[in-house]
Amino acid sequence: MKKILMLIILAALLLLVGCAAQESDYRTYDFFAMDTSMRLTLAGEDALSDASLTEQRIRALEDTLSRTKEDSLVARLNRGETVTDADLAALLRFCMDYTEKTDGAFDVTVADVVAAWGFTTDSYQVPDAETLAALLPYVGSDGITLDGNTVSLKENVRIDLGGIAKGYASDCVKELWDELGIESGIAALGGNIYCRGSKSDAAPWTVGIRDPKAADGYVGLLSLADRFAVTSGGYERWFEDENGNIYHHIIDPKTGYPARSGLSSVTVVSESGTAADALSTALYVLGADRAIALWRELGSFELVLVTEDGRVLVTEGLAESFDSASEDYSYEYIR
Ligand code: AMP
Ligand code: MG
Repeated sequence: MKKILMLIILAALLLLVGCAAQESDYRTYDFFAMDTSMRLTLAGEDALSDASLTEQRIRALEDTLSRTKEDSLVARLNRGETVTDADLAALLRFCMDYTEKTDGAFDVTVADVVAAWGFTTDSYQVPDAETLAALLPYVGSDGITLDGNTVSLKENVRIDLGGIAKGYASDCVKELWDELGIESGIAALGGNIYCRGSKSDAAPWTVGIRDPKAADGYVGLLSLADRFAVTSGGYERWFEDENGNIYHHIIDPKTGYPARSGLSSVTVVSESGTAADALSTALYVLGADRAIALWRELGSFELVLVTEDGRVLVTEGLAESFDSASEDYSYEYIR
């Protein structure tokens, strides 16, 4: 009897060892979607099919949310059509809520201003002051009309979900991975990272926070499990005019110009990918002091702020998870 029991325990142990993914079992899957490079890291026999299903889910979202795809719901809204769609209505409600929470720093109706700078089509230009002044009256969430699941835009109002769509997609990836029973993996949708579970050896995943000034360098490393980490930075998309002025893609909706708040990147860590994405864009516009004030007020996320004058500000909730990685910066914890 004892022997049989031993055998059962041994078999159970072997099964456990057999199930646990080893570090070397993880494979990466790269593709380009939502105008950015994406990488999925997954393990197990079904990794390939799981990755393919994830890619399909993201592409379906892109077909709905992209403003440059002619038949997308967003393109139809932007052409003045009325659209009924529960998911889009919920996402727009979320956007409007964050416009209010961030005092207008996150605002999807900034679309035509973003386009005037050429960021929608990658044909960059500096718009003149009159052009921007003519567009600003149509920036504001009151231009979005929501009635249950039915959405429309007021005349001359257009939306651009580029500041939130990838975060929303990462929440949808989490939902899909729940359905598929995936225990651990990483979805890196451009600067939107979803860390699921821990690595095989129960160690958390490591997410590097890029040094905005050095192409291959990092200012810090975050150890995360079951969290979203989203970075916004002016260095991600920018151009230079003939006088050497730099213009980047995160627009201050109040001025119509690229935000100059003294920050060079904002990383938000949260349990919601959608919220983290909206916040990273907004806090980049608001600057360090107002970002920290909002962190204190809302209490639902943590931050790593990199300032233009070489400081890295880390909120205390990340004290155990953050490691500095550069001698070119000074590091402070915010309490
Ligand atoms: P992210 O990389 O998430 O910070 O998003 C930047 C993108 O969001 C830009 O490329 C624009 O498409 C859009 N965007 C720019 N400024 C804003 C803003 N203030 N509020 C909302 N979306 C914005
Ligand atoms: Mg964002």
